Amino acid sequence: QDPALEGATWHKTVCRYCGVGCGVMVGTRDGKVVGVKGDTENPVNKGLLCVKGYYLHRIMQTEEGRILRPLIRKDGKLVEASWDEALDLVASKFREAIDQYGPDSVGFYGSGQTLVEESYVANKLFKGCIGTNNIEGNPRTCMASAVAGFASTFGKDEPMGSLDDIEHADTFFIIGSNTAEAHPIVYNRVTTRKQTGQDVKVILADPRKHRVADIADIFLPFKPGTDLALLNALAQVIVAENLHDPDFIARHTKFMQGDEEISFEQYAAFLQDYTPEKVAGITGLDPEQIRAAARLIGARGRKTMSMWCMGINQRTVGTWLNNAIYNLHLLTGKICQPGNSPFSLTGQPSACGSVREVGALSHLLPCGRSVTNEEHRKQVAAVWGVDHTKMSPNAGLHTIALFKAAGEGKIKALMICCTNPGHSLPNLNSVRDSLQKTFLVCLDAFHNRTTELADVVLPSALWCEKEGMYGNTERRTQHLAKAVEPKGESKPDLWILLEIARRMGYGEYFAHYTSNEVIWEEYRKLAQGTGYDFAPYERYKQERGLRWPITDKTPNGCAIRYAEGYDPYVPAGEGIRFYGKPDGKAVIYARPHQDPAEMPDAEYPFYLSTGRILEHWHTITMTKRVPEIMKGAGEFYCELHEEDAAAMGIATGDLVRLTTRRGSIVTKARVKGRGVPQRGMAMLLMHDDDPERLTNFLTNDAVDATSKQMEYKICAVRIEKV
Ligand code: SF4
Repeated sequence: QDPALEGATWHKTVCRYCGVGCGVMVGTRDGKVVGVKGDTENPVNKGLLCVKGYYLHRIMQTEEGRILRPLIRKDGKLVEASWDEALDLVASKFREAIDQYGPDSVGFYGSGQTLVEESYVANKLFKGCIGTNNIEGNPRTCMASAVAGFASTFGKDEPMGSLDDIEHADTFFIIGSNTAEAHPIVYNRVTTRKQTGQDVKVILADPRKHRVADIADIFLPFKPGTDLALLNALAQVIVAENLHDPDFIARHTKFMQGDEEISFEQYAAFLQDYTPEKVAGITGLDPEQIRAAARLIGARGRKTMSMWCMGINQRTVGTWLNNAIYNLHLLTGKICQPGNSPFSLTGQPSACGSVREVGALSHLLPCGRSVTNEEHRKQVAAVWGVDHTKMSPNAGLHTIALFKAAGEGKIKALMICCTNPGHSLPNLNSVRDSLQKTFLVCLDAFHNRTTELADVVLPSALWCEKEGMYGNTERRTQHLAKAVEPKGESKPDLWILLEIARRMGYGEYFAHYTSNEVIWEEYRKLAQGTGYDFAPYERYKQERGLRWPITDKTPNGCAIRYAEGYDPYVPAGEGIRFYGKPDGKAVIYARPHQDPAEMPDAEYPFYLSTGRILEHWHTITMTKRVPEIMKGAGEFYCELHEEDAAAMGIATGDLVRLTTRRGSIVTKARVKGRGVPQRGMAMLLMHDDDPERLTNFLTNDAVDATSKQMEYKICAVRIEKV
């Protein structure tokens, strides 16, 4: 027993970092956080934590970098102000812009790290009261293609399966995900299956050899940007070798190419361009390796779970890649059963709960509704108590368009909550320029590369300084208890947003929000009958999370959607019904391979990709406050292949200049890092917050045509030894 924890009171909460959503117990004594431990009763992590979770208490103990009082820019400098002064200034600037230039002259950029209730209130304020759909959030940068993939294939967002599938699957197909570093507790559950001697196989498909390769039985290091060709080749082998399930296909799917419905035979003919031999030249893979992987994915009697993340989503073909992974499961009928599960991993702790489910993106309304659908606007307005005719019928600006509009002077005032776009958005020189051309308000707990550009900075309470809800990667909604009072003068984002709403003249729509529970119960009304059904607030305080939909038939939640016996919306006798589609059938799309937006050429001869390491979280505003983490992983670098490095005379530790069409940085090279990029490719860690070395000075802001997600994962770069 650690003496620091003696006499501590323990509070049930959820990890502040990734989308796995591990249960964490926070220990407090004398009003201070003294330690944390994994929640042994939480089924997600069963008491385990990764290194970030293990040191969570450190972010609560430090004042270094914490924003403790409201700040207002005066004579070019941020100076302390009272809450009244700061809030009145924000309210008057937003009011002024709306009155003079209309509702679409303001915007909000939120986060998958805010609480559900906070995001819900921001959505209502901007869409319901102000009348603009210019409300975006950082899930656009990580999950938008997953959302669009689910919507186009199944008609509804979010996975059908859950993390329980890990314990039932026989084969794991991991593509575009460094699960070992980005979702460590998920990875731990997979490795446990292997280490306990079970007949489990792992296929890894990734251009870079990273830690997941350590447990892979088949490794497919395809050339960057050729994964759609690979996925089509896997489908081609499955069909050619009769590993598909004709009965499942006939009952539960249909085929589409573009907007046209096609037959199975036409789809099979489309796949003829993607035989393993034909794609070998595109992907650089051995045809027999592709066949071996397809046979394992499609093997009768073996259950297959696919997992993917940013390598798939952060691409100009991100939506199509999501569709192509579902194709493998739909062709083989390996879906909606324990262990047969296409499972899209989520990055942030509440990207699902606070943004996708709440509908806090510029085209969405709560619980799968759309801003362009009049009936949906009426349903939401009735619950919000606002006039539906004042709600905009047009989709707002997506993230890249929103920041470009700010740069063009069209967004007069922009509120940023709990995220750091001045570091995290691609083509960053352009974004930082835009941020300086609008009245910028930041709500945050720690100073970062965005707050340094703000006109007003409002200090937010951090993690267990407030209570509320998060929704994790498997539809599990979890309650976070408040354990300590906020530091300094900081306040929960919920309080800040409600104060701004009141001072802008919208108080009547929010006056009854006297607690998180009241807001949750209003939101719950919008969820009822949509398939997103939630439980009463009080239950989440007792439970270790519940997976929606929760109805009278499924009072303890739903592990598998669309499956009879699990999902209350599937009528008896139907077996499986993809009820997001009017005909109940999921769509198998014929999606052709397409090059990334930017390919290497004579001037910029290498592929550049971006990635992360286990110890750090995003733009390191929190993890850099943890001395133990900085001691072990305080250096950021660019990984190169040994032969490329040797050809340029570069060794580990040398400084290299990386130049793309958008910017240039100098950073350290590492020849044998945690991963090994293939020849012709460099991998740059996304974390470094040195103002001269921000990764996103280099990255490309080209977007997927459907999801509007950006292609962080591939651009062309020149590398020179300095
Ligand atoms: Fe937190 Fe994710 Fe680590 Fe779990 S895996 S402890 S949720 S960072």
